[in-house]
Amino acid sequence: MEPLMNIDRLSTVFFTEDGKVTAVDEVSFSIREGETVCIVGESGCGKSVTAMSVMGLVEEPGGKVAGGSINFRGEDLLRLDKNTLRSIRGNEIAMIFQEPMSSLNPVMKIGEQIMEPLTVHLRMNKKQARAQAIELITQVGISRPEQIMDSYPHELSGGMLQRIMIAIAISCGPKLLIADEPTTALDVTIQAQILDLLRGFKEDSGMSILLITHDLGVVAEMADYVIVMYSGQIVEEGGVVELFQNPKHPYTRGLLKSKPVMGQRLEELYSIPGQVPSPLALEPSCYFHDRCGHCMDVCRTRQPQLQETGSGQKVACWLYEEAEVYV
Ligand code: SF4
Ligand code: MG
Repeated sequence: MEPLMNIDRLSTVFFTEDGKVTAVDEVSFSIREGETVCIVGESGCGKSVTAMSVMGLVEEPGGKVAGGSINFRGEDLLRLDKNTLRSIRGNEIAMIFQEPMSSLNPVMKIGEQIMEPLTVHLRMNKKQARAQAIELITQVGISRPEQIMDSYPHELSGGMLQRIMIAIAISCGPKLLIADEPTTALDVTIQAQILDLLRGFKEDSGMSILLITHDLGVVAEMADYVIVMYSGQIVEEGGVVELFQNPKHPYTRGLLKSKPVMGQRLEELYSIPGQVPSPLALEPSCYFHDRCGHCMDVCRTRQPQLQETGSGQKVACWLYEEAEVYV
């Protein structure tokens, strides 16, 4: 079966005062129907920009999608006109962000904000939209929905607002939900509730989720398939079980080692030495080489390509290349 979305060699650049920065560098992956794909990596690795590119949110003059294709249900999103894209965005593809406040209108009542996509995309009249909005608020686990309808965003807690964002996101029955760090700003208990909510909707509706996170705990909870990004590139990908049990890339191993486990003292926590290289100073090399304990000569001068490992995972690292490529 055709995947729901197929991203092929997507590249996205930004134009900064200091020069052009490639934030997403030839990234390819697919999302199947009903699947949750997690993109994981440190901040600045290109995971959010990948999501923004899919949503058509990278705009000139600040930046642009410089190459590749994003095939969604038979059409390349990068080649659609603005109106068609707008009708897909918020309807077939919905998005939630880390900061719900940044996507909600502070001077508009919650009820109106939930009703808006229902009237725009589903062409409901006001009465239908109101009834549906109340139903949606109930579905995301908020009691007294009528009262919430008449509230303003500042009157609700962060967890409640994220539930409202989810209500808006699922209101049109999206095929794909893109969630960028949806629980990062929330405390642990609320975080678990929100993840449960998302998982429940996914199971009921069969929608797919593209989840962006830096948190491997979230990945373990949610992912079917995991993509590890570093400096704008995919360095490893695979099924969640294989990737956690048998991480291959030294960066993935470092990430897993730095994940806190129950009962561990903070000072015992491992952290990957060094820093992400400046995107302005990237030379052909493995971009992780300065931080890697396995660095070889070839790693400093040639870029490893993402390759199948035979176990369903793909990895971009010279440790897994055949010997003849070194010559
Ligand atoms: Fe380390 Fe070399 Fe693999 Fe990069 S290619 S992760 S430097 S071993
Ligand atoms: Mg981000």
